[in-house]
Amino acid sequence: MKFENSLAFAKTLDRQDPLKSFRPQFHFPKVNRKTALYFTGNSLGLQPKQTKQFVSQELADWAKWGVEGHFYAKRPWLYYHKFSKKMLAQLVGAKPVEVVAMNQLTVNLHLMMTTFFRPTANRFKIITEAGAFSSDQYAFESQLKLHGINPEVGLIELKPRPGEHNLRTEDIVQSISENADQVALVIFGAVQYYTGQFFDIEKITQAGRKAGAFVGFDLAHAIGNVPLQLHKHDVDFAVWCSYKYLNAGPGGVAGAFVHERHAHNAELNRLAGWWGHQENVRFQMKKGFVPMPGVDGWQLSNFPVLSGSALQASLEIFKKAGMKNLRKKSELLTGYLEFLLRGGSSPKNSFHILTPSNKHERGCQLSIFVDQNGKKVFDKITKAGVIADWREPNVIRVAPVPLYNSFEDVFRFVEIFKIALK
Ligand SMILES: *Cc1c(COP(=O)(O)O)cnc(C)c1O
Repeated sequence: MKFENSLAFAKTLDRQDPLKSFRPQFHFPKVNRKTALYFTGNSLGLQPKQTKQFVSQELADWAKWGVEGHFYAKRPWLYYHKFSKKMLAQLVGAKPVEVVAMNQLTVNLHLMMTTFFRPTANRFKIITEAGAFSSDQYAFESQLKLHGINPEVGLIELKPRPGEHNLRTEDIVQSISENADQVALVIFGAVQYYTGQFFDIEKITQAGRKAGAFVGFDLAHAIGNVPLQLHKHDVDFAVWCSYKYLNAGPGGVAGAFVHERHAHNAELNRLAGWWGHQENVRFQMKKGFVPMPGVDGWQLSNFPVLSGSALQASLEIFKKAGMKNLRKKSELLTGYLEFLLRGGSSPKNSFHILTPSNKHERGCQLSIFVDQNGKKVFDKITKAGVIADWREPNVIRVAPVPLYNSFEDVFRFVEIFKIALK
């Protein structure tokens, strides 16, 4: 599409947007009594208006039934983890047996690493991207130490080439093959939280598995943002949170994927709990853990129904919107943001975009590196009604979310940003 740098053009795109009915279904925060320009759906997605009704339903059922709500609630609590399976499976490109909502993201990362990071004397290394999200770094470091491995030796962090902002797939593949004898686990953030780079899951997985390693992905910035095909791409495991693009609310219940080829392998070591035990005999409370087939066998505790109800509310919206339609709008919306940022007049050498230009290598987020006084620019746009995200040393991350952001939002943001640069 040929874009134009005008408010009228942005408004035309909004009028033609087949997903425009979704924006009014969300609560927007206000700044100076005006609807904020909200660009932090990559950090905390907005609240769907119907979430209240879903959470209230559980409170009402709890009031009405007490413990019997496990059977008689509108959505019986005993089976709650099953209600999100179909939609989660669609979002990550998986079969229902391969996905489950449980715990929190970092907890799930540790659970999965307990199973899929089993270092031996020869094969003990983890390959990941440099500058991974802090919590992931701490997980990798502590898992290595748990096995008596010095992280300095055991952790390989891949950096972009000098002068480049993003990793090249060919360099990742090469590094995996160079370490083929020693690598035990290859794990990447599918969409890098800082740069917004969407890695080539298929090629990385192929290379990792060929090297004899397990391959996992952290989908925190990918789920609900980019198209995923975890089953087809043969990924061993993945984990995600639901409060970013999935809009399931602060601290919402997270999720995990384990490939079907591991579904019936009861020999796989894991940390076990009663909710992962064979469902039909779970309440016999007997000795001897027998895992449920599939990722369900990694569940520990009974399901957090209140936060799970907010996930339910949000997944219903994704079902109506459809990930294909969302992605289509997302490419256009972020494309428009990039067009406006690059075009028009702005002071020379004042900023550059870290995120790849190729739409197949990014989701909706653009990371803008402001060359000087980044924090001042950020404070100015915040005052002007933009809610964006600041990352040291000089990066403003902006995520136009196709479910609720408009082309007009994007236009107004760039206008404010360019004034702030001056
Ligand atoms: C948001 C995010 C987290 C946060 O972890 P929690 O366990 O949900 O607190 C971890 N890793 C990545 C890559 C993230 O983007």
